[in-house]
This record gives sequence, C-alpha cells and structure tokens, in this order.
Amino acid sequence: MQDIIRLLPESLANQIAAGEVVQRPSSVVKELLENAIDAKATQIHLIVKDAGKTLIQIIDNGKGMSETDARMSFERHATSKISSSDDLFAIRTFGFRGEALASIAAVAQVELKTRTEKQETGTLIEIEGSKIEKQEAVATPKGTSIAVKNLFFNVPARRKFLKSDAVEFKHVLEEFQRVALTNPQVSMSLHHNDQEIYNLRNGKPAKRIIGLFGKSYQEQLIPCQEDLEVIKVEGYIGKPESSKRTKGEQFFFVNGRYIRHASLHHAVMNAFEGLLPDGNYPFYKLSIEIDPKDVDVNVHPTKTEVKFSDERTVYAVVSAAVKQALASYGIAPSIDFGI
Ligand code: ADP
Ligand code: MG
Repeated sequence: MQDIIRLLPESLANQIAAGEVVQRPSSVVKELLENAIDAKATQIHLIVKDAGKTLIQIIDNGKGMSETDARMSFERHATSKISSSDDLFAIRTFGFRGEALASIAAVAQVELKTRTEKQETGTLIEIEGSKIEKQEAVATPKGTSIAVKNLFFNVPARRKFLKSDAVEFKHVLEEFQRVALTNPQVSMSLHHNDQEIYNLRNGKPAKRIIGLFGKSYQEQLIPCQEDLEVIKVEGYIGKPESSKRTKGEQFFFVNGRYIRHASLHHAVMNAFEGLLPDGNYPFYKLSIEIDPKDVDVNVHPTKTEVKFSDERTVYAVVSAAVKQALASYGIAPSIDFGI
C-alpha cells in the first residue's frame, strides 16, 4: 500500500494562511500601518497605486529591524510582540500573531528595506511568493520601508475577485483614517496614483479629525468624556448641524481597536434624538477603554466585531456621554430622556 499523506510545502501553507489575513489591499494597509505604529514611528507615508492592487508602500521612521530580524519577520509565527501565553492573554485584543508579513509575502512581491539606529547599513530583502529572492546590504534611512507589489499575482482567483479601484481604494482610505484617528501623535501622509490625498502633521486629536474630514469641522466638534470605574468613554462628536446624509464618519474604538457595533451606534443616535434632520448621521469618534476581560474579541483578528459581557452598561455610558456633551454645549432636546 502506498502512503499518500504529505506535508504541504511551506509556501503553499503560507498561501492558505494568507487567505485569512489578506483579503484585499486594505488588509495589507491595516497590517503594515499597525506594524509601523508598533515600531514607534513618528512619521508614516503610505503610497498606493491602483487602489493597492499594483503597489502598497509604507515608509516609517520607526525602530527598524536588524539583518536577522528582517529575515525572520517573514517567517510564520515570528513576532517580537509576544513570548508567552500570558502575553497572549494580555494583548490578544490586537491579534498580534506574527502572521501578517508571512501572509503578505506569500501572495505578493515584497521589497523590504530596513535599518535600526545602531546599524550603519541597512538590509534589503526581496521576497516573492514566500521565496527570498535577494538579500543584501543597502543604504537606507533609519526605519522601515515595505513595498508590496502585485497583490495576489500568484492567486489569480483572488485577484479576479477584487472590486473596482474605486471600491478597493475606499477600503484603503478607511483603514488609513482609522489608524490616523487613533494616532494623532504620528505625522501621516497618503498618496494615491501620485496624488496627495492626505498630508497630516502630528497634533491634537481634534486637529487630526479636521485634517481628515475637513475644515468644516473646525467649529463643530464637541469633546465627549465619561469616566467610570469600569469603563471610560472619550472622544468627539459633531454638532447636529454638521451631520450628513451619508454614513462614513462614525467611529468606535475599543481599547484602541476600531470596531463596528450596531447597538452602540444606536446609543449615539438615541442621544441625538430630536436634534438631527431625518436620515442624517452625526460625526462621532468615541474611544472606549474597558477591562479586556469584559470584552470578547475572540473572533478573527481581522474582524471588527466585539461582544461586551455587559452590553447594557456600555450602551448606557455611551449614550450618557453623548447626551452630556450635547447638553454642556447647550444643545439638547427640551425633554430629558434620562438613561
Ligand atoms: P506581528 O505584528 O503580529 O508581530 P508581523 O508579521 O506583522 O507580525 O511582523 C513580524 C515582526 O516583524 C514584528 O513582530 C516586528 O518585530 C517586525 N516588524 C514588522 N514590521 C515592522 C516595522 N515596520 N518596523 C519594525 N519592525 C517591524
Ligand atoms: Mg503585525
């Protein structure tokens, strides 16, 4: 009898794993921006061609990687961010699994240039479909530049299922906005097909919102804060007159991670009740800090859904925070709905 089971070649295993992490250009953007932030960059440039289908390049001035680390970073389950299961429990909210670079390199042509402060020369690595094609010393500024070319060049079925450039770029833009919103201390720029979309200097959170969504918010942002023992809500809401007929400028972050949450959205809408023209949505950017044990993010790390163990309390606190912010600016419906 002949044995028929064999181990998948690593490149194929990586490609399969990549299917979970890398769905579209914006998934790459998210992972690489997060890596740059983790590397303590104070300046990040994102350059995109054809909505990221042809090129996604991220240049950061963060801590860079040594020659060995640069090579290691493309190995699956290779990470500098966790080393024990205790760590895993503490930061699992962010899904640090050491899989992003390995996954991206499995389905694209990647050029990495990186240098740490201590090194005189940096490292260049070219990797394509998980195979290192080139590694050599290179002169490069401190920090890391990763260029991801021709995403899914070796997975035609995936490439075919990408949407139009307009749709894919919208996703890219949204990822950029989410990272930019939570990291106003970092200067960030975005170029698409040689056009400058954003060039944001670091500064206060409100300045970042205005930089991202326009000067019309200059007089329109109301700070929002509610500090309880178990939960903290903080951020900005837009005045009712700046509300828009289209969605897209509503943001929740839980412990620094962007989430979507229908019920919490409802909590905000409820607080705005009677203040908005029918069918309009207010701007909001609300960051919720909560004990990680009270929020279940044990879904896939690329997903944006979470479950709170006590959703009613979170709902009430968010709603109260928004009502209070509106009231303190003299904007409130005549009836107090209470909480
Ligand atoms: P993870 O972020 O989950 O650790 P990644 O595959 O995204 O996994 O990255 C692997 C490792 O490569 C990181 O843990 C980090 O040490 C290093 N790395 C990745 N991107 C950068 C960067 N921009 N600057 C410095 N180090 C980086
Ligand atoms: Mg990462």
